[in-house]
Formats: sequence, C-alpha cells, structure tokens
Amino acid sequence: MLMKLDAFRAAVPNGYKAPGDPGYWAITHAPGLKDAYPEHDLPDLVAWHVTREGAQPISVSVEPEITGIQQLNDHWPVEELQNTRIMLIGAGSIGSATAHALAGYGVGHLTLIDPDRLDWHNLVRHTSARKHIGRHKVTALAEELASLRPDTAVTPLPLDVIEHADHVRSLLADTHLVVCTADGVAPRRVTGHLARRAGLTAVLACVLQDGALGEILRLHPWPRHGCITCRRQSLAEAGGLDPEPALDAGYGTGTRHRPMTAVGSDLHLVAQLAAKTAVATVLERAGHPDQRLPGEHALLGLRRQPDWAPPFNLDHTAELRWRPAIPPRAGCPTCEAP
Ligand SMILES: [Zn+2]
Repeated sequence: MLMKLDAFRAAVPNGYKAPGDPGYWAITHAPGLKDAYPEHDLPDLVAWHVTREGAQPISVSVEPEITGIQQLNDHWPVEELQNTRIMLIGAGSIGSATAHALAGYGVGHLTLIDPDRLDWHNLVRHTSARKHIGRHKVTALAEELASLRPDTAVTPLPLDVIEHADHVRSLLADTHLVVCTADGVAPRRVTGHLARRAGLTAVLACVLQDGALGEILRLHPWPRHGCITCRRQSLAEAGGLDPEPALDAGYGTGTRHRPMTAVGSDLHLVAQLAAKTAVATVLERAGHPDQRLPGEHALLGLRRQPDWAPPFNLDHTAELRWRPAIPPRAGCPTCEAP
C-alpha cells in the first residue's frame, strides 16, 4: 500500500529527505509503536522504498536475540544434549548424515573418527560437497557443521579405530556414548569392544544385503546384553545367518569399499535412525522416559526381503522391526570381565 509522500514526511520526525530519481531505500524505527497499539502487533522497524510517487512499506527481517538450538529450549531438552559428548566412528555415507542428524538434535560435542579422504565415488552418497574432494572426510564434515550447526563443537580426528585403538580408547574417558557407522566387521567389533570396556553404550549402524536392510544395534555394557559377536553367533546357531562377513567382502582384495547398491537417501534414513537411537539413549538415561526405545536391535526395510532368515525377513519397504538384546555367550572375551 503506497503511502502519500506528504503523509510519509509528516510521520517521520527527523532524517527525511526528498526523493530524487529513482528514489531511495529507508528504514524507519518507531520503538514506542508496539506499546501504543498493542492490539495491532506493529513492527518497530519498517523498510521503505521512497519515490516521488510516495513511500512503499517493505517488511524487514531482524536477526533475533536467540538463534540456533536455543530457540527450541521450551520444547526440547536442549541443556542435556548441549552437555552431551558423542564419539562418531565412521564419517562415510551413513556417518556424515549421522553427524548432521546428531548436531540437529543439539548434541553439544562430536568427536569424529575416520582416516579416509573424500573421493569422487563418495559424492553420490556423502553429505559433503565436491569442493572437499581429497580432504579428510572428518575435516570436511567439521567445516560444514561449523557453518550449519554452530551449537555443536566438532573435533575431527583422521584416525583408524583399529590402528589407533589406544588413542581412541584414551578419548572415551571424555565421551558419553559411541556411534559406529564404519563398514567392515573389524572396526565394528573393535568399537563395540572399546566401548564396552569403557562402560559406554555403543550404537552400530549399517546396511545389509547390498542396501536391502538398514540395521541399528544398541550395545549396552550390561551383563545380560551380549556384544555384536555374541549376538551374531546366537542368531546363526538358531538357524539364521550371520550377515556380518558380507560387510567387508572387499577386505584383502585391495578394494576397501565393496560396491553397494544402496542409494544415498536410504543410507541417510538409516543415519537418522542411528542418531535418534543415540539421542534417545542419552535422554532416557537423563530422566526422559518418553524417549524409551522398544528394543536393542532395529531392522529397517529399504527393499522387501521376505525370503531372508528371521529376523531379517522384512515384508515391506519402510517396515521397522525392533528386537530385544541377546545375552552373552560363555567365554566371550569382550563380554566377560577382563
Ligand atoms: Zn560377547
């Protein structure tokens, strides 16, 4: 709605100047307006395009005093999560999306562990952009999160969880929960072992059967909760199968990453579930029973797989199946106290 120039000039107590051609932009500040007319919800800052025809008001977006995760303070346990320190092992396709999701939940500190550098074939599934090719994935991710989610402090460490296990172990003293999205049997077992010895819960995420299934394993360091090896062996002995070896079929052949048919967004769906599992674990422990999960082992259908052995035989895409923990087996070097 164009305001006549005379009326605009009369309403502006100082600073007014007559517009030439093609006019000018101005901002008016009327700090008392809100109090004078509370029923109208008037903005105290308005921009104007002032020309010889009149003054055209334009709404102004003002940076609020509170931005970022603190905006959710009334609806979400921001404080608890800002004080939470999570170690994420694996910064690949699932890991990069998990890091973004954890930061989106407001986790205050992430330690990222992955020795790999971003390569061309990663781009189709990774959250990092092409400009980061050749850099360590953890460094690229830390940079992205710093600009997108500045409430999350990120420590990027280009370490291998097996080769640098001692270093990783020393960092666990300052960690509340571990998430592992690394592919391959060995890194997953080592992560589970290190976390259990440190008295920490580990959340392991992966896809099985060339991306047909997403899987989340929550490994608590509790007497009745078996490690990943115990759980897999118990399933295999019950007539099922052990999907673990397929996770690193490429080991020893020189191709570390076996070709995977999973599409990026399917992997990111698994990542979201991994982050949710991690955050729910932290929050339930902090006194939020409404964050309790239905089990310790989640299977998410990405393509229907009814012929697979139970419990992996999901009938539908997007089906989510939760299972309980499986107890440790006698003599397990991870589950039994050292
Ligand atoms: Zn075990």
